[in-house]
Amino acid sequence: MTVKILLVEDEEKIARFTELELIHEGYEVAKAADGRSGLEMAESGSYDLCLLDIMLPGLSGLEVLRRLRKTSQMPVIMLTARDAVMDKVSGLDMGADDYITKPFAIEELLARIRVALKKSAAAKESSGPQPSKILTCGKLTMDTARYTAAYDGTAIDLTKREFLLLRTLMENKSIVLSRDTLLERVWGYDYMGETNVVDVYVYYLRNKIDDVFGEKIIRTVRGVGYVIKEPDHE
Ligand code: CA
Repeated sequence: MTVKILLVEDEEKIARFTELELIHEGYEVAKAADGRSGLEMAESGSYDLCLLDIMLPGLSGLEVLRRLRKTSQMPVIMLTARDAVMDKVSGLDMGADDYITKPFAIEELLARIRVALKKSAAAKESSGPQPSKILTCGKLTMDTARYTAAYDGTAIDLTKREFLLLRTLMENKSIVLSRDTLLERVWGYDYMGETNVVDVYVYYLRNKIDDVFGEKIIRTVRGVGYVIKEPDHE
């Protein structure tokens, strides 16, 4: 079965070059040159993967992604401008699977496409009826099958990446995890961005948990990393 890729890119030269290379690799390619038609096409569910530029006329790539994620988990790789760190963080936060900085080497893009497709296939395979796995730490609970978290029964609204980070810490209760380990487990071994993204997300989680419920859940171990411990294990 031919893999269908949706390419949302307004720069004609980049779009054309990328399309030719992808076709050469055996992919089927459809193109959109603005955010609105890109979103419409992505929502049709006819494609296996989306390459999504951020700076687009109509709707920005981030807005397209935000809306798409309400209904679809199709793999999305963002195409970003050099040094746009905030775009990368926002993109990943909104559920992008990966990003690549322009101008990119086609080999790198092809490798990232393969990784994203493999992950998505694995996710589909394991997405059958799964037994719920409940993780707990003090009053904090997580249901890994339902993707929900709560503190003393009050739901905590987490993004996909925040959930993964919290789950990784909960699964390794009382074990200090280094930033590199967290980066690898939560963002993937092929993540090429800044390592301080871990600190940024710990900050987000503390805002949503510690600050709201008044308990220090995630502890910093200076010079090492982060750990979650049962409250009475002081
Ligand atoms: Ca653009």
